[in-house]
Amino acid sequence: MPTTDVPCFYCGGSTAGQNHSREHCFSQRARAASFGPIAPKLHAFRGTSPATVQQHNQIPVVEDVCRKCNNARLQPYDVAGKKFAEDVDKLAGGDGASIYYSQDVIGFLLKTHLNYLRWTERDPKSSVWPFPFDKQIVASLRDHLPVPPETYRLYIEGWSADGLPPEFWKEEIDHPAPYDLFYVDVLGEVNIVASRWRIKWLETLLLLPRDGDYTDFDDRCAKVVSYFKGKGYEWQHLDEPLPDVAALRIVSLADWKSVKPRIEQFRQAEEFFRKP
Ligand SMILES: [Zn+2]
Repeated sequence: MPTTDVPCFYCGGSTAGQNHSREHCFSQRARAASFGPIAPKLHAFRGTSPATVQQHNQIPVVEDVCRKCNNARLQPYDVAGKKFAEDVDKLAGGDGASIYYSQDVIGFLLKTHLNYLRWTERDPKSSVWPFPFDKQIVASLRDHLPVPPETYRLYIEGWSADGLPPEFWKEEIDHPAPYDLFYVDVLGEVNIVASRWRIKWLETLLLLPRDGDYTDFDDRCAKVVSYFKGKGYEWQHLDEPLPDVAALRIVSLADWKSVKPRIEQFRQAEEFFRKP
């Protein structure tokens, strides 16, 4: 039983006793639908050093969401996330891909990033914390309203299947890249928290101001994108979905040459993780 009663991240209500729930960082519904019975390796890193892990049945969870928010208010995002993740999982890469997209997919992506960011709070070495989550983002998600686009920047990038080793996504092999991987970097010069979360071949990037100050946010985000470009990332800004278009076209692709060092970085971090 939980021993603490932290206020619900979304509504401020109690999370103790009857109100307690576990919110999976990556929605259980979306994950199970897309990745099936295989237990995808789940990892979260801050930069290249593994964050302190707090898991439930090996799945990262946060426990600061009340039962009502978790089971009712946030459900539309998990429903949308399920369709979105299924579409990603059907394909071996982002080449020519068109995947399910809606306002709720934006909500799903934001919610997932915010979950992982709160989850890494438990890392005492984290340079992210204390981190002021924007009240408008949190309230809009809770009330199922479009999140004001000026409060965040979301980007995506697909890995090209062209050049990936043929067995790359096979379930049976000792997997070279986990299906679900989270990293967070703090880019001090521009004071931006860069949260990266990948599902299979789809990388996503959320940028938020480190201190809640949105001055010159556009310029600062452009610098972050340029920084990542230098590391081989090809970020595509995620525009607001149009009501009559329910598909997201992946136009930014990373080739194997760019993906390979990222996998090596993950492998090194995994080795570090195993050390006693
Ligand atoms: Zn709540």
